[in-house]
This record gives sequence, C-alpha cells and structure tokens, in this order.
Amino acid sequence: MGLIPAAVERLTAEFGRLPGIGPKTAQRLTFHCMSATPEATDRLSSALRELHDGVRPCTRCYFIADGDLCAVCSNPRRDQSVMCVVEEALDVLAVERSGEFAGVYHVLGGALSPIDGIGPDQLRIDALERRLDEGDVREVVIATDPDVEGEATAHYLGERLVSRGISVTRLAHGLPAGADLQYADEVTVARAFVGRRAL
Ligand code: ZN
Repeated sequence: MGLIPAAVERLTAEFGRLPGIGPKTAQRLTFHCMSATPEATDRLSSALRELHDGVRPCTRCYFIADGDLCAVCSNPRRDQSVMCVVEEALDVLAVERSGEFAGVYHVLGGALSPIDGIGPDQLRIDALERRLDEGDVREVVIATDPDVEGEATAHYLGERLVSRGISVTRLAHGLPAGADLQYADEVTVARAFVGRRAL
C-alpha cells in the first residue's frame, strides 16, 4: 500500500491537470477539500457536473452562453456596427473589464499557428465572414494576442477583410509584446482600445 490513499492520489492528479496548478498546489487543494465539510465538496462536484449541461458557445459569436445567444449578442444596447475579434472566450472577459468597448464580439477559437497545424480553416473565420456579409458591421477591431501567432492572425485577417470596404483596426501597442490579452490589466486593455490603429 502506498503512503497516500488512492482517492487522494486521484483528486490530486485531477487538480494537477488544471492550468497553472503545480504538484504542490494540487496536493494543497486536495487536503483542503478533505478538511472541508461534505456539503462544501458536494457543491464543488455538482458545480463541475452541471458546467457542461447549461453552458455552450453562443451560436453567433462563440462566447459562452446559457441559451442560443450570449449576454452580449442578446443585449439590444450593444453596438452591432463594431465587432471585436478575439482568440478565446476568456479574452472577451478581459475586454469587458476594460469598460472601453460597447460593440459585439467574435471568438476565433485560437490563432494561426502553422507549426501546430492551425490554419485559417481551423479558426472560425468563415463564420466571421458570414456575419460581415450581413452588412451591419462597419468596424472590425482585431484584438488577438500581441504574440507571434496573434500578430500573424491579425495580419491575415487584415488582408482578407480589406476588400470589404470596412474599417479594420488593431489594438494599439502598449500591451506587452508576447503577452496574453487575458492577463493584461483593464487599464492597459482600455488604453490599447482607445489607441487602436487601422490595419
Ligand atoms: Zn454571442
């Protein structure tokens, strides 16, 4: 028999698979759960179980929604003429925190990365163009990450969308190069929005 009971090993292994959680933190979380009340661990496990039942990507922008449309797409006060293109759903939260954007979003689902086999067909670019075909959008703000893949994606989108006669802008520098939009503070994101430039 090992030093640690199997149930403890199992939970520690699951925590260890989460992003940003090293082995020691995984162990600490497991021991925290052990000392918590059964009600508290039940709440955690039912929250995890129910996550996939009610939440799915928005059918229009691919942000998270608990119905067909997300809270942004179903809000009549959002400006449908400005669209912010981001890599991941979490990036929408970063832009929302900045308080600088009142338009709608489009979540690409990643960034171009030939080395990882991610080309334009692996991203939701066709869906983006179908939305632009509807004709309501007059500005597309490209808010992909300021790293190599994000810049390549912004460049590609700029070239692909230029013939449409709409304004295509890119968030200003000021976001740290190589950084991840999700981790930028709201003031930096807000500044990058205000200083966005035409592509
Ligand atoms: Zn949406």
